[in-house]
Amino acid sequence: MPQNRKKNINKASSFSLPILSKFGTYAYLLIYALLSIALILYFLLNQDPSKYSEAYSALTVPNKDTGQTFHETFNSAEKSTQSTKDIVWEEYIIKRGDNLSSIFKKKSLSTKDVFKLSSKRLAVPLIEIQPDQKIQFGYTSQGYLEKLKYIKSKSESYIYTRINKKKDANFQVKRVSLGPKIITTYRDSIIKDSLYLSAKKNGLPHNVIMKLSKIFSWDIDFVFDIRKGDKFSVLYEEHFYDGSKVVGGNILAAEFVNKGVSYKAVRYQDTNGKTDYYTPEGYDMRKTFIRAPLDFTRISSSFDPKRMHPIHKKVMAHRGVDYAAPLGTPIYAAGDGRVTASNYNRANGNYIFINHGGGITTKYLHLRKRRVMKGARVIQLQIIGEVGSTGYSTGPHLHYEFLVDGIHKDPQKVDLPDSNPINKQELDRFYKNTSPLFAKLKEYQRLSELAF
Ligand SMILES: [Zn+2]
Repeated sequence: MPQNRKKNINKASSFSLPILSKFGTYAYLLIYALLSIALILYFLLNQDPSKYSEAYSALTVPNKDTGQTFHETFNSAEKSTQSTKDIVWEEYIIKRGDNLSSIFKKKSLSTKDVFKLSSKRLAVPLIEIQPDQKIQFGYTSQGYLEKLKYIKSKSESYIYTRINKKKDANFQVKRVSLGPKIITTYRDSIIKDSLYLSAKKNGLPHNVIMKLSKIFSWDIDFVFDIRKGDKFSVLYEEHFYDGSKVVGGNILAAEFVNKGVSYKAVRYQDTNGKTDYYTPEGYDMRKTFIRAPLDFTRISSSFDPKRMHPIHKKVMAHRGVDYAAPLGTPIYAAGDGRVTASNYNRANGNYIFINHGGGITTKYLHLRKRRVMKGARVIQLQIIGEVGSTGYSTGPHLHYEFLVDGIHKDPQKVDLPDSNPINKQELDRFYKNTSPLFAKLKEYQRLSELAF
């Protein structure tokens, strides 16, 4: 290295020597200048090239790290107030352990800006950053940070902008919340294997399948009642934030044809603001008991005749229904009530009894886990335990019993009292609000391949 350096200097001085004799004292200045140029050139050429380009890119448009370059994507309101067309965006996805300082350090950005962005004056949410949230850095064409967008969630963002767009100025913040864009979607399906598989094949999102089965869970046992050829149609909302779909679409109206019997339900918000599902005549879909007290979506093998038979090891009078289901499948309380037993014995394994009042008791046997204690109040559809194979059992299943005044009834066939009809005073309002939804459902059904 030192030899290299000497070589450069020598070259420069040998070139300047003849000039020295010609121009006298001025030549000293010239030599000095040439030497300086040679030295500067030397240092520049010997810089680590990777370091050099990194420093350079940080000054202009950084696109290293996780960075993707984004062009201005603000909405029109934002655009009209500021000319931001020269801003180039780079996105950073927050990782576990990150804080604002560490992110700025990674981005070779000024720590002064970290203080400015964390200023109490802004009531900044930036100190609340969580993994997987995003920060977008907006750089001017000169490569300095003018804007920062903190994307807290799909519906909530904060935009920090330099006051008067002045370099090194403080930031001002604006909260941007985006409401969802709602699109009504229709799907229908004839059940070929199981409701869950058929619905999934038809592109129905998981949460909509869950909601659909819940709406009809008071009328239909989705484990035992479903038959090949059953069909359903559903009208539901899809929510979009920033162009990407978000789970949580509400079902507006649905029809389920089970063993030739049609069940219809519609969503309605009453004058008290309570939203629920009703029959076209205005009866609440909710009844005192659900038919199958477990998460049927875990049970994939429908139409398996073996499943219909009791699988107890011991020969005994069978007075309940057996639902073969994978270990750990959630078990629901069939109705509101109080836990009268939560215990273990050799025959039942882990078991739970619930008293629902009116002389009705439900029993749940062979659980892997019990989630409620004796004496606890439970509400309908609350998870009380998990499917297991404890006690006299040859495989994972739920043994379920339904007793009225101590007498065993078939939980699938027992007559359940009708639910309450909607308040008479708002029946007109109910029809006015819900008939367009049923009409829409019918129109889609007519256009669909399936005849309803
Ligand atoms: Zn059994």
